[in-house]
Amino acid sequence: MKKFLFLFLSLLFTHAAIAQLSPTETKIIEHIDSSNPQAIKLLEKIVNINSGTMNFTGVRQVAETLLPEFIQLGFNAHFEDGSVFNRAGHLIAELRGGSGPNILLIGHLDTVFAANSPFQQFKLLDNNLASGPGISDMKGGDIIILQSLRALKAAHQLDDMNITVVMTGDEELSGRPLALSKKALIDAAKWADIAIGFEDGDGKPTTANISRRGTIDWTLTVKGIAAHSSQVFSKSVGAGAIYEASRILNSFYQQLRSEPLLTFNPGRMMAGTDVTNEKSTNTGTTFGKNNVVAQSAIVTGDIRSLSLEQLNRVKEKMRRIVANHLANTNSEIEFGEGYPPMAPTQGNKKLLNLYSQISEDLGQGKVVAVNPLDAGAADVSFTANDVEMALDGLGLSGSGGHTVNETADLSALPAQSKRAALLLYRLKQ
Ligand SMILES: [Zn+2]
Repeated sequence: MKKFLFLFLSLLFTHAAIAQLSPTETKIIEHIDSSNPQAIKLLEKIVNINSGTMNFTGVRQVAETLLPEFIQLGFNAHFEDGSVFNRAGHLIAELRGGSGPNILLIGHLDTVFAANSPFQQFKLLDNNLASGPGISDMKGGDIIILQSLRALKAAHQLDDMNITVVMTGDEELSGRPLALSKKALIDAAKWADIAIGFEDGDGKPTTANISRRGTIDWTLTVKGIAAHSSQVFSKSVGAGAIYEASRILNSFYQQLRSEPLLTFNPGRMMAGTDVTNEKSTNTGTTFGKNNVVAQSAIVTGDIRSLSLEQLNRVKEKMRRIVANHLANTNSEIEFGEGYPPMAPTQGNKKLLNLYSQISEDLGQGKVVAVNPLDAGAADVSFTANDVEMALDGLGLSGSGGHTVNETADLSALPAQSKRAALLLYRLKQ
């Protein structure tokens, strides 16, 4: 099926310039308008269920509220328990209709707002503006997925499609190991030709994500020889752990800073005679004296990169810098489990062009790519390397994500549902 996809897309783009809404497309968008009040009600209902990532009961309750909606549309849908990765679990819904491309739609059920957060309720601020925990990140996006599928169903266009919906329960605080918590997504991506994420992106309806930087953590551990400070730099004592750690960090700064769209940041450093590092709480202790050459240093940080190729190249450079030890010191760098980058591939650009054309056909204007520097890793990143095309940020526009000032533009709910529905429809043609 993958082989035919590009053939069909090139045909599609030839006609895109003269595209008008077909009668079927008109039917699809009319259904979105007529069912909008019901969609807002459902959004309000799921926003009012606290689903902070570690509130497993709440996350599951959001899934149980949405599951019947998918079943009603003819999907096989269930909640997959996440206890093996210490999270609530994921909603998975599958429709196997027939001939179109295999499409993966990505949402998430959890929010950053814990059960004891003061921010718990959906609140209408004016006709078009509402606030609530997770309203744009990303319960609004979940509703857009549903609205687009419902409209396709109403226009008799859904039954022959091949769609998998994965709504994870731990996007905001992923369960570990990632190999288990991201398995449902990765498995679905291996099946899919196209992956579409409904995160709120940068909050603007005029942009979408064709790339997201990946992120991994690193830990630098440095050893020196403890001795009286009067002997520092001597043949038998050497430079000590703090000078060695400083050399390494300064070399990272000097040698890697020019990499385009790469950032690397040391976030925490403990150094002295004795140090401890508490990974789980991001804390540590140090003991050392001014008249003692430092014996230990630990530095932890992250790297954000645009592609796997860049990440591997940078890791190699960092390892080489680390290995170039000062006298009588030793150091090693360890790279942690991370989020893969979503590179800006040709396929992703084509999918964005198709989406942008639809937006223009709907009178909503062009959609352009978000600057990857402004886009962190998200669930779609785990799928991007296994599909021909991926696009994210098709969710509900809003602002103030991850804060108690999170709001959503409710007028964007039908507008963005229409774009999503027509994207799925035209992908099937
Ligand atoms: Zn999100």
